[in-house]
Amino acid sequence: MTTSTKTPNEPASELKQKQSASASAAQSVRSFGTGAAKNYQAWVARSAKQPMVLETADLGPLGDEDVEIIVEHCGLCHSDVSVLNNEWGISQYPATLGHEVVGRIIALGPNTKGLAVGQRVGVGWFSGSDMHCHQCLSGNHHLCPQGQATIIGHRGGFASRVRTHWAWAIPLPEKLNFAEAGPLLCGGITVFNPLAMHAKPTDRVGIIGIGGLGHMAVKFAAAYGCDVTAFTSSDSKSDEAKGFGANHVVSSKDSTAIKELAGSFDLLISTVNVPLDWDAIIGTLAPNGRLHVVGAVLEPIPVPAFSLLMGQRSVSGSPTGSPVAIETMLDFAARHNITPQTEHFPMSKINEAFARLESGKARYRIVLDADF
Ligand SMILES: [Zn+2]
Ligand SMILES: [Zn+2]
Repeated sequence: MTTSTKTPNEPASELKQKQSASASAAQSVRSFGTGAAKNYQAWVARSAKQPMVLETADLGPLGDEDVEIIVEHCGLCHSDVSVLNNEWGISQYPATLGHEVVGRIIALGPNTKGLAVGQRVGVGWFSGSDMHCHQCLSGNHHLCPQGQATIIGHRGGFASRVRTHWAWAIPLPEKLNFAEAGPLLCGGITVFNPLAMHAKPTDRVGIIGIGGLGHMAVKFAAAYGCDVTAFTSSDSKSDEAKGFGANHVVSSKDSTAIKELAGSFDLLISTVNVPLDWDAIIGTLAPNGRLHVVGAVLEPIPVPAFSLLMGQRSVSGSPTGSPVAIETMLDFAARHNITPQTEHFPMSKINEAFARLESGKARYRIVLDADF
């Protein structure tokens, strides 16, 4: 996820453990393996901006509604860096980061639903929600005010195991390339959801920023059938953007070229976290067009009312997506053979991997392979 989220003070799994002490007998029937007490290892940041160190811990009993997963791969997202460095002021330490998890279920709490030990699942930005609020009951679990972020007040996926509420353990389609699938679980759904909500296959779609998020957005929009324009500040990414399926590539620094596209796009998805010539960008929207923001640019985006009024345009944003949206995205990705372009590091090289991401040189997402 690319924006901040409300963070309960206490990890949800611990709350659930307290509530579920009486269920331990039933739990032992469905649990599998020796439990995490002896087997849990994690890469831990003790405080902001510090290198992560390998630690062991006792996770205690598994919550009634929780699933325990042996981590195989975990993508590295820019939000992991933001939380490591406490850029949003909501980090909690010690922190175990990692929220693009691919792994296999090793234990199930007694009240989990629809999952099996041994099943391959993914976990993204959220690993819990209250399951009873208006948003959860409407299928918008990712908008739950009590959403439990996987890496804030909860142990994330740069570890031998991760725990999640059963609803947020997303079954992975058999056809998916599991080693590459991690980045789909946060970055992928972040850019797929706006397309699913707002695009038609006949639309002209612009993807602003060809990086970790943007290159997946180009692939999804191209597979969906849209006419896709990639906006990038890097000339070196032009050919790669076309390789991902972009029909056109425009320099995001070239205001003249952007102005020539006035009135063209039905949907623009902005994945960048730097200010752009927003006036020119909004001017490229067709009547009824929409600028949709998923990149966490900290500077406000100036939106002149007149440019919205004339042409009935809109500006919107979104975080990740619901469990059902993630499942739908994974099915779409498997059907169209869409995978992120990745660089792999063994998880023991986690600090090198973070440095590589922060250098801006990674093409285009980093995946850490568990090597505990
Ligand atoms: Zn993320
Ligand atoms: Zn809820």
